[in-house]
Order: sequence, then C-alpha cells, then structure tokens
Amino acid sequence: MIGLPVADIEPVLDTPLFGPSADQRSIAILREFEPPEGYWFANSFGKDSTVVRDLMARSGVRYDSHHGLTTIDPPELVRFGRKHHPETIIDRPRFSFWQHVACVEGSRSGLPLRQARWCCEEFKECWGVGRTVVAGVRAAESAKRAAQGMVHVCMKPGYEKRFVKPIYFWSTAEVWEYIRRRNLPYCELYDQGWHRIGCVMCPFSSAAEIARARERWPRMFDGLLRAVRRAWSTKASYQRIGTPEQVVEWWLSRDRYKDDGEEQETMAFDQFGAEELTETGNEKPTRQPLLGCWNRGYAAAVAGDECVPPYRTYSHHGGTWGYQACRAWREGYEAGNGEVTP
Ligand code: SF4
Repeated sequence: MIGLPVADIEPVLDTPLFGPSADQRSIAILREFEPPEGYWFANSFGKDSTVVRDLMARSGVRYDSHHGLTTIDPPELVRFGRKHHPETIIDRPRFSFWQHVACVEGSRSGLPLRQARWCCEEFKECWGVGRTVVAGVRAAESAKRAAQGMVHVCMKPGYEKRFVKPIYFWSTAEVWEYIRRRNLPYCELYDQGWHRIGCVMCPFSSAAEIARARERWPRMFDGLLRAVRRAWSTKASYQRIGTPEQVVEWWLSRDRYKDDGEEQETMAFDQFGAEELTETGNEKPTRQPLLGCWNRGYAAAVAGDECVPPYRTYSHHGGTWGYQACRAWREGYEAGNGEVTP
C-alpha cells in the first residue's frame, strides 16, 4: 500500500523538536510492514486497540479486525466493541471458560493457574496463526512487554505468527491524549476507575482487582462456583482442596500479587503468548534460526550484516523475519527517504 509520505500526514500528537510525532511514526510502521494479504488486527476493544484501529484507518493499510472472545470479558467491553467497532469479527472459542472449569469432555478440565494457564492458548493465541498480527502492546505497560520489542515472531508450535506493535513506544498519557484529540469513543469502564481492562478473574489480577470485579460482576463469580460444582464429584484435584466453595476461594486468593498501583501484568487480548516465551526464558531455542539482532546481542551470528543501534527498537529478537524487517528499516533510512526517525 502506497500512502501519503508520513511528513504529509497531519500529526495528531505534538511533534518533537526533531522528527515526526508519535502517530506519524506509528503510521509509517504500519505501512512499512504491511503484508500482501493485509494485517490481522487483534482488537481487544481496550484503549490501546482503539488508538491502533484509528491509526490503521489513517494509514490506509489493509486489515481484518478480530476480537478473540474469552467468555470472561467484561460485558461492557464487548458491548462497546459491538457498537463502536462493528467491522470486528468476534472469534468464539471451542469451549467457554465455564465449560473448561466444569471439565466438559474435550476441554482443558480445570482452573487456569498463573504458572499453568491454558486460557491464553484457548482464547487468544489460537487466532491469527500464520498471519502478521497488529497488536496494541506498549513497552510502557510492563518490563516483559518492553523486552519483546516492536516487532517479533512467535515460533511456538501451532501458534506461529509475526507481531507488529505500532504504538509500542507510546506512553499511557499519549494514548489518552490521542483519544481525546481524535474524539474517539472508548469503553465506559475507564471512566469508572478501571485503568486496565482484561479478563474478569484473570489469574494475573491482584487480590484488590478480584475484589472489585466480584462486586461489579457477581453473576460471573456465581457462574464460577456453578462450574466448579458441576465437576466437583468427579474431579479429584478439586476434592483435595475442599468443597466447591473452598475451591473457588482458594483459586481466587492464591498467588495474587500485591496491588501497588502499578498496571496489572495480565495478558490482554493483544498479547498472544508472548509472555510465555519471555517468562520461561526460552526465546533462543524456540526462535531458531536466529540470524542475529543487535538488540539481543546475537549480532555476531551475522558478522558484517548485523542490525545497527539506531534500528534496535524495530528489530528485536525476531529470527529471520524480524531481522529482515530490521534490515529493511536500515536500508530505507540509508537510502535517504528517512521518513521516520527511530
Ligand atoms: S488475560 Fe488472564 S484470564 Fe485472560 S486468557 Fe490470559 S491469563 Fe487467561
């Protein structure tokens, strides 16, 4: 897709002393990496996806928008998405969260735990396989996300895909400023005290977040108890914990981190298991072949052709595709078109 040169795009956010504004850079990134078949846009209906959707429209790239239904999304979020992002396809999972917890035949049979969660695979990672996925992930959200880079390749068997994160370098303040200046509709929950919206009762929520969610969506927590009750008589691991009520309380209270006001490190829709790789520290074996990337210290593997520092943000440890993308950036920059200043 050939669009307007970035310099000809009216910036929405303020331009720094040198170089383009954050939204101009994001548009340039979307145009740079657009695949022939168009992007798979992983639309969580959250604030970051709201910004990305608008940037996609402004950039003129082709894409199909998808929301992976988790069945434990806040109802307000899904209602918002249906109303304001009507082009988005709602991808439904094989089994609902409740069916998995109720141990329906063929399901994952149990509650997801922080260190043994099946839900991201079932509800999020399974979509967009083989495609170039655009996600509203930002480095400022967590150290893990910052470590992943703006472009990366997921090589997890059965879930392979490429990621492009056009607002990777945006701050939360810039996200809200962009929404305000573009007058974009956003989910009402943000105005009601939720600074981050993800799956209700996610194993990564803090105890405080669980308590607040319980107050807000009591019927979802009733549903959890019903699902556990349904499986309890045949599920030995539930019985070892205690009654169905005790199982629910155990699960809701275990392993919660202290809510210190920092943003929750849950995996929003747009994560697609990237944490999986970082958390287990196994990027290198699962991302072969690594052709080299300055940012990860693998440059020696491609002596004489390595990524160079100004491009490190855009390459990261992505294997072949990530490396080539990085090189494309460098070549474009050196050819002098310089539309984007990394
Ligand atoms: S965000 Fe949390 S609850 Fe939702 S799929 Fe991922 S780990 Fe599971």
